[in-house]
Amino acid sequence: MMKICCIGAGYVGGPTMAVIALKCPSVEVTVVDISISRINAWNSDQLPIYEPGLEDVVKQCRGKNLFFSTNVEKHVYEADIIFVSVNTPTKTRGLGAGKAADLTYWESAARMIADVAKSDKIVVEKSTVPVKTAEAIEKILAHNSKGICFQILSNPEFLAEGTAIQDLLNPDRVLIGGRETPNGQKAVKALKDVYAQWVPLERIITTNLWSAELSKLAANAFLAQRISSVNAMSALCEATGADVQEVSYAVGKDSRIGPKFLNASVGFGGSCFQKDILNLIYICECNGLKEVACYWKQVIKLNDYQKSRFVNRVVSSMFNTVSGKKIAVLGFAFKKNTGDTRETPAIDVCKGLLGDKASLSIYDPQVTEDQIQRDLWMNKFDWDHPIHLQPASPTSIKHVSVAWDPYQAAKDAHGLCILTDWDEFKKLDYEKIYKSMQKPAFVFDGRNVVDVARLREIGFILYSIGKPLDP
Ligand code: NAD
Repeated sequence: MMKICCIGAGYVGGPTMAVIALKCPSVEVTVVDISISRINAWNSDQLPIYEPGLEDVVKQCRGKNLFFSTNVEKHVYEADIIFVSVNTPTKTRGLGAGKAADLTYWESAARMIADVAKSDKIVVEKSTVPVKTAEAIEKILAHNSKGICFQILSNPEFLAEGTAIQDLLNPDRVLIGGRETPNGQKAVKALKDVYAQWVPLERIITTNLWSAELSKLAANAFLAQRISSVNAMSALCEATGADVQEVSYAVGKDSRIGPKFLNASVGFGGSCFQKDILNLIYICECNGLKEVACYWKQVIKLNDYQKSRFVNRVVSSMFNTVSGKKIAVLGFAFKKNTGDTRETPAIDVCKGLLGDKASLSIYDPQVTEDQIQRDLWMNKFDWDHPIHLQPASPTSIKHVSVAWDPYQAAKDAHGLCILTDWDEFKKLDYEKIYKSMQKPAFVFDGRNVVDVARLREIGFILYSIGKPLDP
């Protein structure tokens, strides 16, 4: 029986391996992690991450051909294919701090594989890594002195949080990069055979190692760039009376552009977009490509601008101060259908409002109070132009409460900010909310989820990103 081991039981490792186990019943899949609490959660009824459809898949396979374990070395030793899906955050100190990827976790995983392996292994880069990382890993693995053949493959993951299971079951493409040697191509084939159990062959793309590594950074940079482009348009729409949703629709009808990923918002978030663009910027700079680096920097600057523009809009609309005013915040996750708050725009928006001494009542269906408090306290690395980068001050943190439902959050509030596109925010009883709020009652829709005409009819003063302002 083929054995697969995945190092890293996070947002990528867990769902990806669960789907491989589901689709390849004759393969034994074990996901390992150094975090005991994460592994315990994967083995319990309370999975460590929220992802629609995930629980079903895990329940079908766990204990049959899907296992979660902290015994990292044992499973690495036994595996034929080792996926490495550890975190690769932005470096916070030393050379390249604030831009380069921190490969500490990767390096320690690679050294452990080199120490433990006693038979040939295929090592798969599942984490997002800088282009040329495979070369470094090959050097580390070469220190294994037992004459073992290691083949490194790049197989970046393109799933999106919130739709991970759907994306894994029906991917647009699976990308596998390998060395062009006979052994390299043999390894590519072995991994291709795994995916071919459910992915149509024409969607499995094979490339050289460096193209595969770079494609992942490129894909995230293009996606983020699209958001910054439409957000740039949203500012212009507000200044001119155009409606960004109408503009997006018209632009997206062009088949060369297409309609997806053209929603204006308070800004992109998540653990990947900013980190991967920073990484790309660093790689460009290291290769002497300053102008290219500048181009990608602008995508992040625009995202920061969009968040501060939103905060400024809230404060200026509410008579130039939110000091002492209660603001309900609906949504804290970086997007709907996930509890992930890494790099969520809500952090910067909340810090901005707290900076002007607002009191916040935050509601999100999947985010815990602990997460919110931790996120608002955490400092963020100042890589270029700081906006709202300080942790919330000890006094302002007292002005944050977490509500159990949107109605409690909105009660007696002067303003309400919608920061995540959860479907439930479209269907709220806004009349009830209006009645319970202070007057005039403001709504600031950072995701364009509410019905503009309806809310204005109820009596709200409404600001929606990129839409004509209140008459
Ligand atoms: P994560 O932080 O949720 O999970 C990483 C896990 O690796 C953690 O549980 C950590 O304890 C574990 N780990 C670290 N070092 C280890 C070691 N030496 N041995 C065993 N376990 C170790 O991260 P994630 O969101 O799953 O992302 C993982 C990688 O995938 C990153 O490179 C990320 O950029 C990339 N990626 C993420 C997404 C996403 O949507 N989250 C999508 C595509 C790609």
